[in-house]
Amino acid sequence: MSAAMSIKKRDSSIKVTIYEKHKIIGYNSEGRRCAEAHSIEEEWCKWIPEKSSYFNNILEAESIVGNKVYKFQREIGTAYILNRQEFICQLAREVERLGVEIKTNKKIKTLSDLEGDIIVDASGCPSTLKSILNLKKGTTSYSYQQTLEEANCFNANKIKIIHIGEYGYFWIFPRNPEKREVNVGVGLISKGKSNLKNILENFKKENGISGKVNHVTGGLIPIGLQRPLIYRNIIFVGDAGIGTFPFTGQGIYRALISGDVAGQCIADGKIKNYSHIINKMFIKWDTIGKTIYHINKVFREINPSLVLWTLNEFSKMSRMLHL
Ligand SMILES: Cc1cc2nc3c(=O)[nH]c(=O)nc-3n(C[C@H](O)[C@H](O)[C@H](O)COP(=O)(O)OP(=O)(O)OC[C@H]3O[C@@H](n4cnc5c(N)ncnc54)[C@H](O)[C@@H]3O)c2cc1C
Repeated sequence: MSAAMSIKKRDSSIKVTIYEKHKIIGYNSEGRRCAEAHSIEEEWCKWIPEKSSYFNNILEAESIVGNKVYKFQREIGTAYILNRQEFICQLAREVERLGVEIKTNKKIKTLSDLEGDIIVDASGCPSTLKSILNLKKGTTSYSYQQTLEEANCFNANKIKIIHIGEYGYFWIFPRNPEKREVNVGVGLISKGKSNLKNILENFKKENGISGKVNHVTGGLIPIGLQRPLIYRNIIFVGDAGIGTFPFTGQGIYRALISGDVAGQCIADGKIKNYSHIINKMFIKWDTIGKTIYHINKVFREINPSLVLWTLNEFSKMSRMLHL
């Protein structure tokens, strides 16, 4: 939708059609497949959620690596816990207002289902078109998340990420304050035979976390750039192309930004520029993130405390460099 918005704002004469496999936009299982944390930096301010599209402002983030706690403060209006389903509806209303046609209940099964001159694949991870075309898919991690109601660890304005050398990381994010909801989840670097539900249940037990499970989700999280970014007349955006931030799995802003850039390149008639711009924007994080990811994959086998050591060094370095 950010691509559609970006095209229409630049050239309203371009016909844009969005296909969504679910019957309803937003309020479907995909709409809740997220921990819903979203931060806004200067260049992203065009995607500020309306009041009804978020539950809470995030004012504090805690990143816990072994016995070290890194605290980050945020100002009101720069980071949110989205009501993601409603946020998706907000974007849908905006694109429809700009003249974009949204066709729901339309699952793309073959390339011939799409007749446009240019195709934007925003189908998430795994990408539908990359699967159809047998294209390489990038590095992914695995996730499992429960939403707990009346959670004893509910804190409306604080998110927590807990890195565990052995596995990957856990998160505890607040959700709907009326129900004192919390999204608690686990992201795993390599799954092997691990049972994510058991790992999360153990984590909850060890940390005394309780609440009634009212929603379960999860799935693949792409780690960093998922090349190719372009194939013939197809541009891959969001999880299908740009993936998430390699350390924390944050992907909403990357999906929005990549859509925006794709739209700009399409409207300018220069789709080849897309890879160049995206590489310039994300290559630094990708190189650092993926290097640490691969080193840690080896360390995890040898000694999980080495994983925590690299993450601590990274945390210190990123603070020093104000990253
Ligand atoms: C458990 C979990 C927690 C996460 N937590 C966070 C977080 O807190 N913050 C954050 O920023 N990111 C988070 N992420 C990552 C984030 O959800 C993704 O990066 C982001 O949703 C990517 O957006 P997208 O539009 O590219 O893809 P998606 O959100 O996956 O959307 C893809 C859309 O395409 C549709 N579709 C798929 N296939 C077809 C088809 N064949 N035909 C028609 N339509 C199709 C789907 O129905 C869906 O609407 C999390 C991910 C997971 C799994």
